[in-house]
Amino acid sequence: MSRGSEGQSFDKLRMSGSVNLAKNQIVWLRRDLRMADQPALHAAAKAGPVVPVFVLDEDRPGDRAYGGAHRWWLHHSLESLGYSFGKHNAHIVMRRGDSVSVLAGIADEIGAGAVHANRHYEPWFREAEEDLRDALPDGCELVLHDGNYLLPPGTAKTGSGDPYKIFTPFSRTVLEHFPPRDALAPPENIAQPSAMPESDELADWDLLPTRPDWAGGFRDFWKVGEDAAHERLEWWADEVGDYDEGRNLPSQNTTSQMSPHLHWGEISPVTIWHRLKDKRSEGWKTYEKELIWRDYAQNVIMQFPKYGEEPYRDYDNSLWRNPNAGHLIADDLEAWQRGRTGYPIVDAGMRQLWQVGWMHNRVRMITASFLVKHLLIDWRHGEKWFWDTLVDGDYASNSTNWQWVSGTGVDSNMFVRIMAPLSQSDKFDAAGYIREYVPELADLPDDQIHDPDPEHRPGTYPDKLIGHKEARERALSAYREMKAGQ
Ligand code: FAD
Repeated sequence: MSRGSEGQSFDKLRMSGSVNLAKNQIVWLRRDLRMADQPALHAAAKAGPVVPVFVLDEDRPGDRAYGGAHRWWLHHSLESLGYSFGKHNAHIVMRRGDSVSVLAGIADEIGAGAVHANRHYEPWFREAEEDLRDALPDGCELVLHDGNYLLPPGTAKTGSGDPYKIFTPFSRTVLEHFPPRDALAPPENIAQPSAMPESDELADWDLLPTRPDWAGGFRDFWKVGEDAAHERLEWWADEVGDYDEGRNLPSQNTTSQMSPHLHWGEISPVTIWHRLKDKRSEGWKTYEKELIWRDYAQNVIMQFPKYGEEPYRDYDNSLWRNPNAGHLIADDLEAWQRGRTGYPIVDAGMRQLWQVGWMHNRVRMITASFLVKHLLIDWRHGEKWFWDTLVDGDYASNSTNWQWVSGTGVDSNMFVRIMAPLSQSDKFDAAGYIREYVPELADLPDDQIHDPDPEHRPGTYPDKLIGHKEARERALSAYREMKAGQ
């Protein structure tokens, strides 16, 4: 579907009479928890009284229930959106259960004319959309809108009309289609039916951790919700000029940290693009590319829905050391998860992830590479850990990046290119970052912080799980053996 065409298709539906203007309109909220530039809400509010519905539906294939960090963010994001609807004297209907039967039931109960939703590409959402079409009562249509990406996935096509597999030509074509559509203003009025369906209480969903309450670091680090996303964007508008230089330096605050706001749809990438488009700097150009990576990841899962579970290339399991097959390997996985590998940059990254639910991009690459190549553990263990612990854990971006690092992906780094974590730490000046997240190393001098020698290494800090040279040789020889056996 091309830019703006969802508006046209909606008008067509109205003209053809298949959406009854007098009828109630459901907005199916998923990862689009905002009022501004929210095409589904925009269309519904124009068409009739609105019933926004969020269904906590965790029955997903591939063990894709929300992770703990997701649940924390979701609670606060729904709370914040609830306040925004409250300003219009409107409220969100929250239900736990199977999305399809909940939505079909509500549509029946309120005599809805349409269910509006923004398109998402996770396989469970696409399956639910298919099933919902069949389950909705007569006279009620599912109307899908494009709103969460710079361009609707599927717009950028090769000369032969296929979606792209490789990032660089994808990105070139996306740039040719720019500017993206204009952002929509939040609706001025939201009417609701006089009798609203019943709703659960958000607090009863127990999305926040209690015993133990591990979210103190999250609370200090994040402000959640649409207003916070816009505040962050205003801050970023002044900083983006330095992005090209600073984005690889984890000790500095030179990335936007917009990823959870984007993941949960508290702000649209189109809104970000239009706010920053006049910043004619290398920083902005590089930032625009990163936003295109996000679109690219959707383009990948749209073509390969099992990308989070299945490697694209024919790697067989013989390459990996399997944590289910022995304690030592399981211990290695746990040491990586807990930030106790003996590599300060890796440990700082994994502890940042645990503490605040987010990790700097350069360090995500280093820690992922370390798991896959130094520890020779299947990327899917890492992908799942990130899914469980990131506030921005995103099926498309997570799997695309893990498969990129592992060399298993449709467009990916070669397996035999092995990142050296200690030199990366030095090169990207991670000393401040390590001091912040690995406090037992905080007093080490600069020449020791990246790779402390035995006299400087505090007793509480672990020895390296494996030396870099040894790990590199082990990975290369395992890869050669796998290839020889194929
Ligand atoms: P910025 O540098 O400010 O970038 C702006 C935005 O562009 C980000 O918010 C994000 O939406 C997008 N973006 C940037 N880099 C990428 C990328 N490589 N791929 C896709 N989108 C990108 N990002 C997620 O949003 N969710 C994930 O689950 C996720 N898992 C990852 C796993 C691994 C192993 C790696 C290497 C990267 C992963 N990323 C993921 C991509 C990237 O690390 C984060 O988007 C970024 O660190 C978020 O911080 P930021 O908002 O400050 O990014």
